[in-house]
Amino acid sequence: MTGNKALFHNFFHTFGKAVKTADGTLCKIEGHGTVILNKQIALKNVLFVPNLACNLISVSKLSTDLHCSVIFNDRDCTLQALNSKKMIGKASLHNGLYILPTSPKIEISKSFTALGKVDTVMLWHFRLGHPSFQYLGKLFPALFINKRPNSFSCKVCSLAKHTKSSYFPSTYKPSYPFALIHSDIWGPSRVKNADNCKWFITFIDDHSRITWTYLLKDKSETASVFVQFYNMVLTQFGFKIQLFKSDNGSEFFARSLGDFFKEKGIVQISSCVGIPQQNGIAERKNRHLLEVTRSLLFTTNVPKYLWGEALLTATYLINRIPSKVLKFQTPQSIFLQHFPHFKPISSILPLKIFGCTIFIQNIAPNKSKLDPKSLKCVLVGYSSLKKGYKCYHPPSKLFFTTMDITFYEQDSYFTQAEIQGETWSDFQPQQVSPPNLHSQPSELPSCSPLPADLSPVNAPIDSPVVPVTNSPIPTLNTLPENTPTQIDSLQKNTTQTASCLHKKKKTYP
Ligand SMILES: [Zn+2]
Repeated sequence: MTGNKALFHNFFHTFGKAVKTADGTLCKIEGHGTVILNKQIALKNVLFVPNLACNLISVSKLSTDLHCSVIFNDRDCTLQALNSKKMIGKASLHNGLYILPTSPKIEISKSFTALGKVDTVMLWHFRLGHPSFQYLGKLFPALFINKRPNSFSCKVCSLAKHTKSSYFPSTYKPSYPFALIHSDIWGPSRVKNADNCKWFITFIDDHSRITWTYLLKDKSETASVFVQFYNMVLTQFGFKIQLFKSDNGSEFFARSLGDFFKEKGIVQISSCVGIPQQNGIAERKNRHLLEVTRSLLFTTNVPKYLWGEALLTATYLINRIPSKVLKFQTPQSIFLQHFPHFKPISSILPLKIFGCTIFIQNIAPNKSKLDPKSLKCVLVGYSSLKKGYKCYHPPSKLFFTTMDITFYEQDSYFTQAEIQGETWSDFQPQQVSPPNLHSQPSELPSCSPLPADLSPVNAPIDSPVVPVTNSPIPTLNTLPENTPTQIDSLQKNTTQTASCLHKKKKTYP
């Protein structure tokens, strides 16, 4: 029995029933459902009793439902599976009660489902990739009428973000676009992305701090990806990159890349060996990207094989969010001051929660009249090449780009059960030999994109979803449809007219 409705993974209303507590009081039962405590313990037919101040578990029901033995002693109580003999749970004795802990992911899922339905502050916190509440208050004061930013907290942020900074804050000296490009590589990720990528590389314009992120299958692709980026910049914006700054990674000193630098007259600057802090802007950007990536994945239980999509979405969001270093302008707005004729395609898309459930039109060629008219998919970002959202259909492993979508933002597509067996440490870079100077021991993999119109026409890598080159960049000006000042209209699930529907078949290991 529980008095906390947010604990339920599914819920059914009950009428006219009550339960008698230890002191003889009758308490009304309002429903029942399943509560998942951790990856091994799912409790069925748990009663929802609103007046109950704590959660109570029946030992007989526990042992019957889970087919386990329950062993009590003077310090703890262990649950042991009868078949495998493995311990599936352990409760510690505190003040006469055995307390069974739940996993942190359960808490995250709970906070998402509970808060997302009622609080516009949390809704925007999730949509924007978990910026701090103080910062959100500065950006959107209308959200905090009669509310204090420090009265909000988010468990996903606690798990996803670093608490200490190893880099000094950067100073900002405006110049002009593409005079200096900062770059860094991250990887290899322990988990391959959906398109088998394990690395990513960032290119950051020093003037606007706008970021392009590319996913890489191998870091040997560095030279070819930079050539693509250089050509995109020249063709789309008419600028030639003058300075290129990176750390001392060997991939930045490959002969092919050095020859290209010489041919184009690009001056290469690198940090000293063992001092990645000298490449601080790129290192900081990577850390920020990884923090937002983790937050996006954790919020809606998205499996790690979609980390690349989360990373590109993180880039999209960071490019569009005001930065303190830029005196609360966004990277995109500074960049577009020099290129006013560019209008990022994706900037017209209202922001939605990454990983939420969506329904798109079913265009299967062999569909009969009795087949479903729509497909249940998961939202995995914003396309920079087409006017539409990026959608993924896990059963068929197909990606789609479309605007003909019905959103269920408050429903996470993936449940806790679907990420069983994964560990948080999988998001840490794999140690390689020799040690990779780019890898931060506690960081995640990430990549970022630019505004659609600003992105290169051809994706640098054969990525199913992403137009690798650019990630859409946001600014407050590009969030109008979603801005908190118009939040009421955004709360509704919206269906938009179709513009394009694109699919690509991919298979994953
Ligand atoms: Zn958060």
